[in-house]
Amino acid sequence: MQVAANLKEINRRIEDACKNSNRSVKDITLIGVTKYVTIERTEEAIKAGVCDLGENRLEGFREKYDYFQGTDVKWHFIGTLQSRKVKDVIHQVDVIHSLDRLSLAKEINKRTEKKIDCFIQVNVSKEQSKHGILPEEVLPFIEKLREYENIRVIGLMTMAPHTEDETVLRQVFKRLASLKAEVQEKHYESAPCAYLSMGMSNDYEVAIEEGATHIRIGTKLVG
Ligand SMILES: *Cc1c(COP(=O)(O)O)cnc(C)c1O
Repeated sequence: MQVAANLKEINRRIEDACKNSNRSVKDITLIGVTKYVTIERTEEAIKAGVCDLGENRLEGFREKYDYFQGTDVKWHFIGTLQSRKVKDVIHQVDVIHSLDRLSLAKEINKRTEKKIDCFIQVNVSKEQSKHGILPEEVLPFIEKLREYENIRVIGLMTMAPHTEDETVLRQVFKRLASLKAEVQEKHYESAPCAYLSMGMSNDYEVAIEEGATHIRIGTKLVG
């Protein structure tokens, strides 16, 4: 029940954030991040109506993927992916949110025969602790990715700094949105880049107001 109640509250807030920014709730995908929780809790989320799930580690991903096989779930891999582990997830994931280096792209490209939807992870806030390529590297990186025919760049992803300061959060989200627009202007067939994966439990409303299409929520949903 708890997850259903949490989801209801989140959906209400999503609606408000959409109203504030003249957007449609239909353009927002809520990814339930289940990395902290059990199979049972995850099942509660699915029953409450969450159809997109996100995991950041291989083990958690495989455990849940195996358990929920046959259930209509879209699987998002949101964590750091080591190149040598690509072969263990590539046939199960629907979307990878953490593409941040050419060696990883090369491995993904090699291990699959179909196009894989990827977000490029960008370290907008330039924090040392964060993964992702730097904002100024985004265009050259995407240019180089064009040689990997199985990589489709559907959008950009970032993690905002841990702060309550809305001005800082907005700056980060705005920067990612403007980078996305720059990529879209290139009209690369391999990089439609129509989406923005940004916003977590503490900042998803601001992220939506700044254009997020995919929000990744753990704590406030299932935590
Ligand atoms: C854990 C995690 C989330 C969810 O974080 P919450 O603050 O619990 O909502 C979102 N994105 C990534 C990449 C994560 O690792």
